[in-house]
Amino acid sequence: MSQPIDHLAAEEARHFAPTPEFAANAVAGPDLYDAAAADREGFWADQSRELLTWATPFTNVLDWSNPPFAKWFDDGELNVAYNCLDRHVEAGHGDRVAFHFEGEPGDTRTITYADLTEEVKRLANVLTEWGIVRGDRVAIYMPMIPEAITAILAVARLGAAHSVVFGGFSADSLRSRIDDAGAKLVITADGGYRKGRATALKPAVDQALADRGSGEQATVERVLVVRRTGQDVEWNDERDVWWEDVVPQASAEHTAEAFPAENPLFILYTSGTTGNPKGILHTSGGYLTQAAFTHKNIFDLHPETDVYWCTADIGWITGHSYAVYGPLANGATQVLYEGTPEHPEPGRWWDIIEKYRVSIFYTAPTAVRSFMKQGREIPQKRDLSSLRLLGSVGEPINPEAWMWFREVIGAGLTPIVDTWWQTETGAIMISALPGITTLKPGSAQVPQPGISIDVVDDKGESVGNDAGGLLVVTEPWPSMLRGIWGDPERFVDTYWKMFADKGFYFAGDGARRDADGDIWLLGRVDDVMNVSGHRLSTAEIESALVAHEATAEAAVVGASDEMTGEAVVAFVILKESFLKAHGAEGLAEQLRLWVGQQIGPIARPRDVFIVSELPKTRSGKIMRRLLRDVAEGREVGDTQTLADTMVMSTIAKQVK
Ligand code: ATP
Ligand code: MG
Repeated sequence: MSQPIDHLAAEEARHFAPTPEFAANAVAGPDLYDAAAADREGFWADQSRELLTWATPFTNVLDWSNPPFAKWFDDGELNVAYNCLDRHVEAGHGDRVAFHFEGEPGDTRTITYADLTEEVKRLANVLTEWGIVRGDRVAIYMPMIPEAITAILAVARLGAAHSVVFGGFSADSLRSRIDDAGAKLVITADGGYRKGRATALKPAVDQALADRGSGEQATVERVLVVRRTGQDVEWNDERDVWWEDVVPQASAEHTAEAFPAENPLFILYTSGTTGNPKGILHTSGGYLTQAAFTHKNIFDLHPETDVYWCTADIGWITGHSYAVYGPLANGATQVLYEGTPEHPEPGRWWDIIEKYRVSIFYTAPTAVRSFMKQGREIPQKRDLSSLRLLGSVGEPINPEAWMWFREVIGAGLTPIVDTWWQTETGAIMISALPGITTLKPGSAQVPQPGISIDVVDDKGESVGNDAGGLLVVTEPWPSMLRGIWGDPERFVDTYWKMFADKGFYFAGDGARRDADGDIWLLGRVDDVMNVSGHRLSTAEIESALVAHEATAEAAVVGASDEMTGEAVVAFVILKESFLKAHGAEGLAEQLRLWVGQQIGPIARPRDVFIVSELPKTRSGKIMRRLLRDVAEGREVGDTQTLADTMVMSTIAKQVK
């Protein structure tokens, strides 16, 4: 049997067991794994009953009679917003802070659970008056301000589905998402603050709704606009309504109606790292169960004392599951920050952590690597002693980035949970549990209790320990996607066709199990390089490059090569401190040799290009397919979901 992916890097020797103090106070104990192993569905049923309040208790747990279309808890009824809000107030926690909001200009608001519940009720009354009912779709196109959370929860409260569109997306992207969902209402703002400027949002909404050809149906009846920046906006009296003219006046009495567990909760598009974004559909009861379970146990949440901050935008799945639904279902106190980490200067995030005494901090490797590039002096000027747990999501975190994160941000003490999951999975699937797992830098490690994961070859056979292959989920899980909106065929083709006879969900990622059975993500299967018959993954070579003292970030791709079939081509960003002290002379050649020494001559890049930027999605992930175009001297492909479209021409110049 040939391995779908070769494994080259040496085993990681650095291991970190939980401290006795952490373990003693940890929320999650090993009994969770035991219970899930004994009766997987029973385990999820118990978790759901314990973590959520059901208006009508369910008796069915999983209906998998029509795979891959799952139903979880489907004869039960609940209201998702009630679970995130009212019940905490009813339990006497109305005064607990739900959000410490910090705007980019420095304005702040403290919002308690009672405040947020009241605001959501008011908005729900407004939307009801406008005819929004169960089954309708509402587009949300907002900056990271409290009204965005209110909007999400008010839509959920009415049993309608939201489609949050990242506020940095263009009018075109917004338009296609509004149309795809057939949204009746758009909730937006005049603008938001980013990088010290008021950036407009409303004009993109106007443009997305304008100029419809004769055949096109305009489904949007109203646009609700929050005044955030006060900038001038165009106004359509028939369609547009200011939030401040209707929401504060509306009644704060509203009783949440219960909806079936499988009622759609939201549609959300994938990041678009590998191609055209997919509109992923999630429903209510199973989604909320797994979001709440993973949030509580992986982040070791003590809701009375912790201050939790997830830096993801609400336009991404991480923002949905770990800045809205999971934490609010668990009654957590959160930080909500509107702007960028660099404004007014690079230490802004650390200032926020110091100010609010953040104890749990969840961010992305791309952010960690950009802090590495800037240097440790910046965080070291702040008091980060409140932090007790760090989390990472979005890409493999290179072992050196993991170490930097723990040493510089976590004072060499905090556990780091590296969480693997996808828009499609709805919630975390693979992660350490911080009071139990001995951590290994760079590995996502273990499937969550109740989650069945395997690494298989292309026939679907398990590759066992110490081997690489394709990551699959072998059993349905509560927060799994229920489909691609409006396209059941694409749903089946994309995720279920590959291992149709086994019924496995194919994630599209490569992975390997080490000798202990821990899982290491190796990058996208689409990005695997075939060099002289060896199947090389991106992650290990990138991590070797990042392990060099000069490097902050690296991306590798395979470019066609006459000699070897494909050759490894690397793009590298240097640390500012290294550049200042040593310059970049001769470094490309040194890095080539370095990779050869670290993991073997087969992985040695043919070219190493030193660049100042890498192409990234709006969610901060490296888009390797664009780099492959550069490496092969082709016209660069679709850059629609790129955060900064200029970066490709910058890179092209630096490569010449
Ligand atoms: P598209 O599917 O449109 O290409 P995307 O896959 O980037 O976009 P997301 O759902 O936001 O969209 O990202 C999920 C992917 O992110 C995973 O499939 C995986 O490749 C990567 N990922 C997320 N978390 C981790 C992690 N902890 N370690 C390694 N990879 C991760
Ligand atoms: Mg994906």
